[in-house]
Amino acid sequence: MQNKQLFTDPLTGILNRQEFNRLLEIRMKDTDPYSMMVLSLKGFRFINDHFSQKAGDVLLTRICAFLEKELPAVRIFRFSGDEFAIVCKDAETCRQCHTQLIARMQQSWSVENFDFRIQYGIGILHVEAHNRDKDEIIKGLEYAVMLAKRSEENRTCVCTADMIERLHRNERVLELLRQCIREDSFIVVYQPIYDVKEQAYTKAEALLRLPPHNLGQLGPDEFIPLAEENGLITEITYQVLRKTCLFLQQLQHTATTLKSISVNFSAVMFLQQDLGNNILKIIEEYKIPAHMLQIEITESMLSRDYHMIIAFIQRMRKQGIEFLLDDFGTGYASLNMLSVVSGDILKIDKSLLESDNRRTRVIFEKVIEMAHSMDMKVVCEGVETQEQRKLLCMLNCDIGQGFLAGKAMKAEDYGKRYIKRRL
Ligand code: C2E
Ligand code: CA
Ligand code: CA
Repeated sequence: MQNKQLFTDPLTGILNRQEFNRLLEIRMKDTDPYSMMVLSLKGFRFINDHFSQKAGDVLLTRICAFLEKELPAVRIFRFSGDEFAIVCKDAETCRQCHTQLIARMQQSWSVENFDFRIQYGIGILHVEAHNRDKDEIIKGLEYAVMLAKRSEENRTCVCTADMIERLHRNERVLELLRQCIREDSFIVVYQPIYDVKEQAYTKAEALLRLPPHNLGQLGPDEFIPLAEENGLITEITYQVLRKTCLFLQQLQHTATTLKSISVNFSAVMFLQQDLGNNILKIIEEYKIPAHMLQIEITESMLSRDYHMIIAFIQRMRKQGIEFLLDDFGTGYASLNMLSVVSGDILKIDKSLLESDNRRTRVIFEKVIEMAHSMDMKVVCEGVETQEQRKLLCMLNCDIGQGFLAGKAMKAEDYGKRYIKRRL
């Protein structure tokens, strides 16, 4: 009895994670290919929180009973709280199990007079003869599950050799990011933003760059999502804020038209209770007026922690910090978000400017009109040509940002190019 407790999961009675690891170790030694599948439930916490822990337990037990009884020739393990691993002897068995599993998952599970329909993601990895690294197999499976769960729909993702390559690269990138955090060696560059009405470079956007490294082409579009997923973005953003505030402090003693710099915030920043206090402390530390710092947020953020973010925006606004709504036109919650940030600045994504579709042009024009009627200024991103600049003037857009006005540059280059003299 005691022995059984060591290798089974007390709730469901199936084999536990240690046993799963043990099985992998055993399989390391032979070269027969086999397949693994992880079923990961989405939003399971909702059931525990809104019904009862007991209802959650019953649901897990029911799912397990199905896996054990109905799937042929497989071994089932509790992979984590709401995840089950299914080890199949070959790819064909895996395919059959998968078909049966998704057919069942489309139906509901009845628990305590409720019918639950559970969202899920499934990750699959076919283990080949050459692939016998246990950690790599687990990471590959977890990566496939994560990708499968990312979309709104129920999805399956098979881990390919390319994905394993990507995982290795991600690890090297993360190591580099951790080193940059330790050494405070990130580089912040500033892209000048031109105010059409004032005919001057009044704003800049702080954009993150890495110091020299040996990982080839590696821009923020690749490393920022990784930093977000791995909890590094908060510390990185504080470092960006400090560097930006230092630059703003130096600007105070110069004759410049630059009035403010905006810093990009990721959604995960708002999970911190003391975010507001920390920002105000940094501003105070560098002795700059709060209105010189602006914060860029995206509309997708509000779909998560709506009330917390609104409270934060209101508090920061009272201190004089303005908010820019970034990448407008690429998400779904746009109109709702507009009512929240009304009074500040709207940044229209470059995709709208790139399109020569007549309808898109009308939307563009109306968005600018609407923003103006809500006392918002409009920045258009991605202005690369004189024609686009003229179009912006015609559409009454206030501010242009793009390679035409200038690419992002280091603080010292910005100083040399745009700041005429020291006071
Ligand atoms: P974003 O916030 O939309 O930043 C604007 C991006 O457009 C920048 O790319 C900029 O270099 C690029 N861009 C500017 N003008 C033009 C143009 O005329 N044409 C084209 N094709 N592109 C232009 P970058 O620096 O590679 O940054 C990419 C994204 O990475 C940013 O998009 C932002 O979402 C994120 N990011 C960058 N720095 C930070 C940061 O410090 N924190 C966070 N959370 N995200 C950042
Ligand atoms: Ca931005
Ligand atoms: Ca943008």
